Amino acid sequence: MAIIPPPPLTLEQLNHASLEAAAAMLDGLYEHSPWIALEALAQRPFQSLAQLKYAMTQVLAHAPAAAQLALIRAHPELAGKAMVDKSLTVESTNEQSKAGLTHCTEQEFAHIQQLNRDYNAKFGFPFILAVRGPRGTGLNKREIIATFERRLQGHPDFELQECLRNIHRIAEIRLNDKFGFTPELGDLVWDWQETLAQHTDPGYAEKGQLTVTYLTEAHRACAAQIAQDMRDAGCDSVHIDAVANVVGCYEKSSCLRTSDGGYTPKTLKTLLTGSHFDTVRNGGKYDGRLGVYVPLACVRELSIQQKRLPFDLEIIAFAEEEGQRFKATFLGSGALTGDFDPTWLDQVDADGITMRSAMQHAGLCIDDIAKLKRNPDDYMGFVEVHIEQGPVLNELDIPLGVVTSINASVRYQGQIAGMACHAGTTPMNRRRDAAAAAAELTLYVEQRANADTDSVGTVGILQVPNGSINVVPGQCQFSLDLRAPIDAQRDRMESDVLNALKAICTRRGVDYTLTETMRASAAPSAPEWQARWEQAVDALGVPLHHMPSGAGHDAMKLHDILPQAMLFVRGQNSGISHNPLESSTNDDMQLAVQAFAHLLHALATESQA
Ligand SMILES: [Zn+2]
Repeated sequence: MAIIPPPPLTLEQLNHASLEAAAAMLDGLYEHSPWIALEALAQRPFQSLAQLKYAMTQVLAHAPAAAQLALIRAHPELAGKAMVDKSLTVESTNEQSKAGLTHCTEQEFAHIQQLNRDYNAKFGFPFILAVRGPRGTGLNKREIIATFERRLQGHPDFELQECLRNIHRIAEIRLNDKFGFTPELGDLVWDWQETLAQHTDPGYAEKGQLTVTYLTEAHRACAAQIAQDMRDAGCDSVHIDAVANVVGCYEKSSCLRTSDGGYTPKTLKTLLTGSHFDTVRNGGKYDGRLGVYVPLACVRELSIQQKRLPFDLEIIAFAEEEGQRFKATFLGSGALTGDFDPTWLDQVDADGITMRSAMQHAGLCIDDIAKLKRNPDDYMGFVEVHIEQGPVLNELDIPLGVVTSINASVRYQGQIAGMACHAGTTPMNRRRDAAAAAAELTLYVEQRANADTDSVGTVGILQVPNGSINVVPGQCQFSLDLRAPIDAQRDRMESDVLNALKAICTRRGVDYTLTETMRASAAPSAPEWQARWEQAVDALGVPLHHMPSGAGHDAMKLHDILPQAMLFVRGQNSGISHNPLESSTNDDMQLAVQAFAHLLHALATESQA
């Protein structure tokens, strides 16, 4: 019997229906738990599906722990008994069969059953995974089993939250289905990045890992691919510059209408945007690349609609940001600010190849690098979209974040020298334990950074050279990484930490040395550009969340010559990045494109006012 699907719902219908009728429209979003949608409906009218989705996440976030657990337990096991008995809800049957789970081999089926038992025994609730995945088209069995195995190793607190986040993703896709909504621009951006990720350096390709370092064959293939994507999307000019940045321009209308019906010649400055396409070793597919393809999706839309902006839009895919093959971090964006250091040309990679010969091999004209320096007078500013690379948006169930500042940072390498002595014969009050001093400093750094709420401090390296189980540590090496949204805040934290180190070492009768290895100033967002992102996010009906960027980005470099502001996009899997598990959904990418389009539109409107 053929089932004719009902016509898609509209927000208009949902906003104007009686509560009962509206609840019926949202039936089935959350497995056997209609109360979530029902409570969220109290916040009608909704201006967007994104707003409704967020409202539902908040109902669940504020529900008692018992209700959250009951919701998780209302879900069927993956490829479990309910699937065999055919007692799944229609929605679940659909999702599990799309993922191929209804067609498991006997071995796969037995393995999944074992995982189900182990997971339930460990956590006391079933494993929940949105099997339609970040693209909405379905994870394959291999991906599902790998995720299951990985999450079985998780901490119970974390897994509970991860199950709830997966439940929200399931509801998001079901809601899209009900409303006949396909995030087409998000899909486009997702697919572009998937295609680009096919190029990877030798040694990694075999392992299915993504690594694209400066000027390798994979790197040059990426540049060629991006250039082609830019042309196909409708950029008027595309070229690869002297450091292998890919530069695409969507030109402004050749003349602009004035209020009295006449035309004025072009006057507005260019808007610069972009991010990097190189990766760390075994990195993610979205770090950097998202910031190239989100604006490109906007160009494609404008081009299809035959619309022009009153300003040039220049999108740059920066060739080098990660400093992996050569120690030349931000080489791509640095070339635009005149910070290309000619001594880099003599650096050699792990195979002894100099940067100069790598550039010559790639056909780049080294003499032209100095000409890449941009004149700030030609540009309005720089905006960058980037995957968050952290857990904040993921944990808050918020898709987009407005960056207030790229953190100031300072790094040190340190060494504490105490006295090695016998662990059995040396009384506690006669010790000069270098590791205990470093441990005390570590706890102080944690507490001191936490006191600021938005500072971060990390002791990432902690080593007792040639340590032994029966020897009190005589030496301890450590690292120090301190970051804060403004320089003064970092400086205060740094001063407190250095004073604490001194006091700890004096009290414990140990010596220390400290070497500064890096110091970078904060790059606060330009208020007017941050405000444009805020308006764009607000227009989408998603909550506004401000956050500093803990990591460095190309915008930090452009900050030297232009006003800049960044937009963050939520990452899945706790926002993990520099890792193959880095992920984001088509729905979130769609929102990023819409936000970018809104910013372009607002700029165009401002310029006509
Ligand atoms: Zn990046």
